[in-house]
Amino acid sequence: MVRGFSAELKRVLVFAAIGIFFGYINGYMSWTLIATCSLYISGLLWQIRRLDLWLAKPNKQPPDASGIWGTIFDNIYRLQKKQRKEKRELKTVINRVQETTSALRDGVILVDSHGNIDWWNRAAGYLLGFQSADQGHALINYLRHPEFIDYFESGDYKTPLDLPSPRFQSKHLQYQVTLFGRRERLVVVRDVTQIHQLENMRRDFVANVSHELRTPLTVIRGYLETLADSASMPEKWQKPFSQMLSQTERMGQLVEDLITLSQLETQSRQQPQQPVNLQALLHTVRHDALELSGNKRQQINIHSTSEVVITGCEKSLRSALSNLAFNAVKYTPSNSCIDLTLLKNETGIHISVQDNGAGIDAKHIPRLTERFYRVDEHRNSSTGGTGLGLAIVKHALLRHDAELKIESKIGQGSCFTCYFLLAREFKPT
Ligand code: ADP
Repeated sequence: MVRGFSAELKRVLVFAAIGIFFGYINGYMSWTLIATCSLYISGLLWQIRRLDLWLAKPNKQPPDASGIWGTIFDNIYRLQKKQRKEKRELKTVINRVQETTSALRDGVILVDSHGNIDWWNRAAGYLLGFQSADQGHALINYLRHPEFIDYFESGDYKTPLDLPSPRFQSKHLQYQVTLFGRRERLVVVRDVTQIHQLENMRRDFVANVSHELRTPLTVIRGYLETLADSASMPEKWQKPFSQMLSQTERMGQLVEDLITLSQLETQSRQQPQQPVNLQALLHTVRHDALELSGNKRQQINIHSTSEVVITGCEKSLRSALSNLAFNAVKYTPSNSCIDLTLLKNETGIHISVQDNGAGIDAKHIPRLTERFYRVDEHRNSSTGGTGLGLAIVKHALLRHDAELKIESKIGQGSCFTCYFLLAREFKPT
């Protein structure tokens, strides 16, 4: 470039020298200089025209030129070649990405920052029935399920969402959204029909078996109770009979818990809702817990400043709170203190059940709401638990868009808190 520029400078000087020389000879210095400048400018204009013509057809070789113009043509030509190479490489990468995602069995949809569909792979086209004309349209116009719209617009994509397919009645799809770039979204659509069917089969199986076991167990328990109470019962049979009775009762409790759990799992979220007075419910739960406590003489206190009424299902809420209170009674020693607290503040509605019992090791806490998970098998055989109580609590709360938080310290006690959204509060119309 520097060489081209100095060559151009030399050319200007030569033009100027020629102009001055001829101007001196013919005596018309200014006219001769104007003519020389015009000649030089015409040369510049001609080169600009050549550049313009060449840029209009960029695939052609650059025009031949000397001086600065030769350097300019060469540099532009080199940049064009570099850009063409980069474009080719980028296209190859895009083609490879598209080929790979087309081969995926999961649907992939790219959604721009306005929520419009940018691109989708073959599987997404099949699962959701997209046509090429759908590009650029809002995704929620095609996936209109209210739960999907809430999920998509919430911006909270920690967990995937399972819904029936909008295109095939028999299919069940799972949506997982990931944010990238400038609020663009990648939606992965997975066909989970088989997992869904297996889950339904498991649920139906547990529900049916529990129902089938209920009647024979009631009959067995009835006979055992009659025989155990009978005066003619030989003394050596009294212990085996009372053990049989207590085991039958345990089995009966297990069956009842399984039935409650499967009812909670199968009930739709849109089940009829009614106003539930949480303060009154806590008093009922306290009454039942005191009965269970019996001669352990535990103190059960209610802390609640005002009445809070939410919309929900009283039966499942009672079941959840009773399970928490009964656990506090079961896992705390005699004469201990249990606090049932109801609190409403700007973060939501909180109900906590706190005890000063044995406490739970932190490593167990994340698994406590799993079915049949127990901290200590030995300890539980004496308390008669089924291992389903906290699973029932979790599912009952899920039905109310609520969460369970567990805090516990070995030797100090445990606190189980249920968090409800303020939106749950009942507002009389
Ligand atoms: P279970 O019927 O065995 O009580 P849960 O699901 O209700 O089953 O509880 C799971 C386990 O969590 C219990 O086995 C017990 O070890 C522990 N747990 C629950 N509540 C408490 C509590 N308040 N204090 C100490 N341990 C508890």
